[in-house]
Amino acid sequence: MKIKALNGFKDIVPGEIELWQKVENTARDIFARFNFNEIRMPILEKTELFARSIGDSTDIVEKEMYTFIDKQITMRPEATASLLRAYIQHGLHVQKPIQRLFTIGPMFRHERPQKGRLRQFHQMDVEVLGTPNPRVDAELMAMGAMLLEELGITMSLEINSLGCPICRPGFRAALLSFIDDRKDALCEDCTRRSKTNPLRVLDCKNSACREQVAEAPSIQEHLCSECDKHFDAVQEGLKQLDVQYSLNKFMVRGLDYYTRTTFEFITKDLGAQAAVGAGGRYDGLVAKLGGPKAPGIGFAMGLERIVLLLQQQKEPVDSTQIDIFVAGLGEKASEFSFPLAHKLRRKGLFTAMDHEGRSLKSQMKQANKVNARYVLIIGENELKQGTAVLRNMENQEQQEIAVTSLSTELPSIILPHNTGCNPV
Ligand code: ATP
Ligand code: MG
Repeated sequence: MKIKALNGFKDIVPGEIELWQKVENTARDIFARFNFNEIRMPILEKTELFARSIGDSTDIVEKEMYTFIDKQITMRPEATASLLRAYIQHGLHVQKPIQRLFTIGPMFRHERPQKGRLRQFHQMDVEVLGTPNPRVDAELMAMGAMLLEELGITMSLEINSLGCPICRPGFRAALLSFIDDRKDALCEDCTRRSKTNPLRVLDCKNSACREQVAEAPSIQEHLCSECDKHFDAVQEGLKQLDVQYSLNKFMVRGLDYYTRTTFEFITKDLGAQAAVGAGGRYDGLVAKLGGPKAPGIGFAMGLERIVLLLQQQKEPVDSTQIDIFVAGLGEKASEFSFPLAHKLRRKGLFTAMDHEGRSLKSQMKQANKVNARYVLIIGENELKQGTAVLRNMENQEQQEIAVTSLSTELPSIILPHNTGCNPV
């Protein structure tokens, strides 16, 4: 019996991985341009970390987490909680009062798998810790927009403010009384939510519920003066950076920790899975997890959804390109080629060779398959005469090179091609 991968868990194979690398490389480049440092955290954390930060009554904590119940540990469903745990544990605020951090990696949620929704999925997550400045909110959104733009993805940015512990209770009360008048028309989930987490009724996907809440009070009209000022300044910042956005009073986000600014990058091209990225400010969260009183803001983008969008564009992606294919013909030439290929790799050339003693025709076919820029042909006779033939695959020109100087001459004729990676 063949063993297959679990439902909702996917392999990323050559042919597809190139798109992932393109997205990750572009993201790393942009994050560096905005002065972010990378951090990597473990996949397993104490369950309590997520329950305390994301919130007990959220979909994630209520029904989506992969938890080892006997050990009270959980596979991270998102990155913010783990990143803050690391920030606090290592006293990163002492090293730098404002930390700008990013991480890229897998997350795990037990959801119904569908297009753009998996059980192991990948996020690029960025967080700025230690400043309440609304400019940072605008700067982060502008960075997300720049990343998607550089990848050629069209999206719209929607923003909202969820207020703070001072103004949200007033809005909650106004919303509850609005919901109370319509409670018989709401879906089962919303009836439950109206007791535990009434703001979530606003972003229910059910069309009947949407109709009911269309005229619901807007949190933007219930903000206290500080939150109002902050929200205005965020919008001013977005205008200064020329980032288009629209206001969405229904966007409440599914996690409890948000305060003030929340935002989503939305695409029209992925059906129901419309959010490519989302985030917001969480000014009380670091302190709630036992850290300093550091405000914070961040967002996460889903790699699967970005890759799907790129696949839909059907733009050709660069596949791996080999600098030189060493074609040794016959036992002796093959024996000679083996250490030669190693030397060329040491000098930085992307080198391929055949270990199976195949014919010249077959080796030329392999060279074409890996897009080799050059092929070095070493036959038994050539070896005896002390020369090898280098063929430029672009213009078919050939030249002879003395076998004794191959490892020194080849790297200067064939300059190693750019790998697309940034030197660290
Ligand atoms: P959705 O409304 O689609 O469930 P979410 O609000 O749960 O998204 P977040 O927790 O904010 O999403 O995560 C940020 C991003 O991570 C999303 O915009 C999406 O691109 C991606 N994402 C979230 N859950 C999944 C999943 N199960 N599979 C693939 N990508 C996901
Ligand atoms: Mg979700």
